[in-house]
Amino acid sequence: MELPVTRYHPDPVGTGSVEEKPDQPCLCCNRICGYVYTGPAYSEKFHYLSGCICIWCVADGSAAKQFGAEFTDTDALAELSEAIVSEVATRTPGFVAWQQERWLTCCKDAAAYLGRAGAAELKGKFAGALPALKAWIEEEYGLKGRDLDAFVAELDKDAGAIAYVFRCLHCAKYLAYTDEL
Ligand SMILES: [Zn+2]
Ligand SMILES: [Zn+2]
Repeated sequence: MELPVTRYHPDPVGTGSVEEKPDQPCLCCNRICGYVYTGPAYSEKFHYLSGCICIWCVADGSAAKQFGAEFTDTDALAELSEAIVSEVATRTPGFVAWQQERWLTCCKDAAAYLGRAGAAELKGKFAGALPALKAWIEEEYGLKGRDLDAFVAELDKDAGAIAYVFRCLHCAKYLAYTDEL
């Protein structure tokens, strides 16, 4: 079975929000689909959804509907249209961050979440995100020059301070922010 397309989170297996689990039945559709959503799930009644629902039930909105769940905190999306907020909150896999996750926006739309980055990824596959990330760090922490470079060099996608990388679906600009434990 092909994985569903979620444009605001195009590779949830790559980012770790969806894991291959060949034996795990889905609480929503009751089928063993092979790919389980392991990102955040916010529901007043159901506190055990992460790791128990399949990616298809996330992507088609049925898990959100059945469990009254949202998969992302939408505070950062407040200025966007309700249709976009709803797609990100109820039909898009979320992502785990140290602090409350923030979904970044550009061109009056939610951006696509590409994944976590540390210093290594910012020299490799996410090198294009470095200018946006540096601008964000300068603004947020007031760091410049060597201090800013030192901060970036310490980023690690698995520990300490982490960068979260997005890309605009319209102008293709990279966006990024950091948080830490
Ligand atoms: Zn399912
Ligand atoms: Zn844009």
